[in-house]
Amino acid sequence: MRTAPAPRRLARPPVTAARHPAPASAPGAAGPEPPRLAVENLTAWYGEMTGVRDVSLQFPANTVTALIGPSGCGKSTLLRCLNRMHELVPGARAEGRVLLDGHDIYERGVNPIAVRRSIGMVFQKPTPFPTMTIAQNVAAGLKVGPRLPKRRQLEIVEHALRRAALWDEVKDRLEHPATDLSGGQQQRLCVARTIAPEPEVILLDEPTASLDPSGTTRIEELVQDLKREFTVVIVTHNMQQAGRVSDVTAFFYLGELIEVGPTTQMFTAPTKPQTEAYVTGRFG
Ligand code: ADP
Ligand code: MG
Repeated sequence: MRTAPAPRRLARPPVTAARHPAPASAPGAAGPEPPRLAVENLTAWYGEMTGVRDVSLQFPANTVTALIGPSGCGKSTLLRCLNRMHELVPGARAEGRVLLDGHDIYERGVNPIAVRRSIGMVFQKPTPFPTMTIAQNVAAGLKVGPRLPKRRQLEIVEHALRRAALWDEVKDRLEHPATDLSGGQQQRLCVARTIAPEPEVILLDEPTASLDPSGTTRIEELVQDLKREFTVVIVTHNMQQAGRVSDVTAFFYLGELIEVGPTTQMFTAPTKPQTEAYVTGRFG
């Protein structure tokens, strides 16, 4: 029986020239860890319409942050700004800064494709490539630069599927079409595809919206597990889910960040009246 390949870092060009700057202070010196991802004064438009207004927010490493708020408050828009997918919408633009390890992903010369590998996204509905096999789907994000030897690629596929808690269910049918899988399995396949290029941040936009309760539970357990290795941001309109999976919760209303804090505090003792009204179910 084969054992799982060891964790690896994929050799890939850095997003910016110096992606991992030397720490500002000596190791062991006091002071908070810099956030893995930081948003500074971000405003995003669709044409003349403002979707997100002047948001500043930090995402610490190895933390799950939930973005909550009523429909249309800008959660998905903000998420798509975090990996430069917002600009793919015709007429859409954003201003402000998004810093990954201190480096602005919107800086001139930064390759948005490399950004999207470092900051991967999983969508509301599972989006496997329908004409590809299970294995091909996982490897789909890797196809850049020189082709990897087949064996190496298989190792990466296995490792990503294991980390997405899907390996045992698909190991005997890696060459079957991805569409053979159930919705919940397809969503974990999409997580595996996002993990394969070794991102630093994983963004999930209502990843359980189309799943049944058991599929939802599997994804929620997976999210908890992923934070050991990644920084996770999850959009959810389900407050119980935010309570179960997140460490930090940010509440949005009409495109603005109203309040952010530890999840328990946000649900038991929010400081803003709008947050309280939302978490107690008075609107939304
Ligand atoms: P949420 O994810 O919180 O439901 P969205 O980020 O999808 O909210 O939407 C924020 C605002 O931006 C809404 O008013 C919505 O109608 C608008 N919006 C979202 N996507 C588009 C788009 N592709 N084109 C134009 N307006 C959009
Ligand atoms: Mg949304």
